[in-house]
Amino acid sequence: MKNSDFTFETIQYVRPDLDALAAQIDAITADVTAATSFDAVKALMHRRDDVMRDAETMVTVAHIRNTLDTRDSFYEDEMAFLDNALPALQAHMVAYQKALVASPFRNDISREFGPELLTAYGREIAAFNETLIPYMQEEAALCTEYQKLIASAAIPFDGQTLNLYGIQKYFEHEDRAVRKEAFRLYSEFFSSHEADMERIFDRLVEIRTAMGKAAGFSTYTPLGYLLQGRSDYGQEEVASFRAQVKEVLVPLCEKLYEAQAKRIGVDTIMAYDENRVFPDGNAQPIGGVDELVAQAVKMYHDISPETGEFIDFMTGHHLMDLANRPGKAATGYMTELPAYEAPFVFSCFNGTIGDVGVLSHELGHAFAGYMATRSQPISEYTGCSTDIAEIHSMSMEQFCYPYAEMYFGDGADKYRFQHLQEAITFVPFGVAVDEFQHVIYENPGLTPKERTAVWHDLELKYMPWRKYDNDPFMERGGYWYHKIHIFLYPMYYINYTLTTMGAMEFKKRRETNPEEAWNDYLALCKAGGSMSYKNLLRLANLSIPFEAGSVERACGYARDILLHAIQKEQA
Ligand code: ZN
Repeated sequence: MKNSDFTFETIQYVRPDLDALAAQIDAITADVTAATSFDAVKALMHRRDDVMRDAETMVTVAHIRNTLDTRDSFYEDEMAFLDNALPALQAHMVAYQKALVASPFRNDISREFGPELLTAYGREIAAFNETLIPYMQEEAALCTEYQKLIASAAIPFDGQTLNLYGIQKYFEHEDRAVRKEAFRLYSEFFSSHEADMERIFDRLVEIRTAMGKAAGFSTYTPLGYLLQGRSDYGQEEVASFRAQVKEVLVPLCEKLYEAQAKRIGVDTIMAYDENRVFPDGNAQPIGGVDELVAQAVKMYHDISPETGEFIDFMTGHHLMDLANRPGKAATGYMTELPAYEAPFVFSCFNGTIGDVGVLSHELGHAFAGYMATRSQPISEYTGCSTDIAEIHSMSMEQFCYPYAEMYFGDGADKYRFQHLQEAITFVPFGVAVDEFQHVIYENPGLTPKERTAVWHDLELKYMPWRKYDNDPFMERGGYWYHKIHIFLYPMYYINYTLTTMGAMEFKKRRETNPEEAWNDYLALCKAGGSMSYKNLLRLANLSIPFEAGSVERACGYARDILLHAIQKEQA
């Protein structure tokens, strides 16, 4: 299938023959069990990679095209078919993994590929049994339903019909009344769909709890950890990290919002003021998709030879779709087309600084995928769990700071301040999302309204600055409904907050010792998922965020920059 002349549009979609694929995997599994030498096992492992590659590529193509236009019924039907059919394939994959774990050549496998491969297989074996398949199918269907509901938003405002991305742009508007009205309409979209979202999430909690029990646990949470690929930390470590955030970052965020109130001339920062960081407006990107991409091409050529080669590959093969259009899923992501060794980046640009975030964040993911695919010997190692992957993307955001003038002109300082402030204020919100999920899955019997009250309590704990100005739905906790990860990717969210720590460390090191920082970053990208979480951090000379004092150590540099800027403006 591999063809170096391709562009994304020219990739022909053919529904993968999943029955044939299952039979091929079964045959490889039988041969692994019968193999009499490690060389034979190794050849079979590479053969399994080859047979999976084309099918995975087709699944990804269908997914991308479905999100590019959620109204296109062909890809909608393909996704419905694949959502339903793919879980059955997992039984065949797990049988293959079991054969390798039980192989007399397992020591050779670990010597050749490193111990992480069989450890990861062990996790996947523990997280799977046949009884889970019907649950996984229903889970996928519910997640699709939530996504469609979110994408269906068509809010009439300012003479346009806006989706949720479009309306959020007005949260930065100079006129407070406009911001307030935009936020009210945003809130109203969720409150008017509350019954549907309650039903979808209630069933998801029920299904996931049953899955946890079917995997031998008392709740969903330990299964969620396994599915996130965690092998060297658990719930206690994560709780200790959340406690550090509460102690170190919540008071800092309160200071930042107090300063922001003074700066924009309001008594109290309301939810609809949080994105209005400056009185004369936030930094505006200097142009639309084409102009910004042209700047990104220059920037990546300046950062390093590797990033230069990468960005030429992305543009040359049309691997970014960034413009907002009706029917496009309101999301942003990076995915990969393994048969083409090609990342793909999806976003809906809305003319805010978030657009530049995509060109640094999602392209950071894409760069890491591009490097790992070309550095790792086996497909399992080309991707990694997001507690590492988000270091790739968030650090790239920091590495792009010196280039902010290219995107924002004389608004560059404002961009840097706002971006750094948001990187920090995000963390308490992120740990609140994580704690929310722990509470929900530990107490699956909560009613939907009780769950929403849990969110409200967590806002009081982690976001004491948050005020909704007489919005009863938000004031009883409705804000969590917008968070797609809570529906689609359980136990994932903490990763963004853990990785903020890595990004803040890289930020400091890139400014104090640029060459060493870049080399460590490159090593981390190339390593993909070939080691455990803590070992990858050690490889990149990053600290372990669960250890006492680590949040202070990681964020102290950024805090000094922010507080210094505030001091200067108030002097
Ligand atoms: Zn990301």
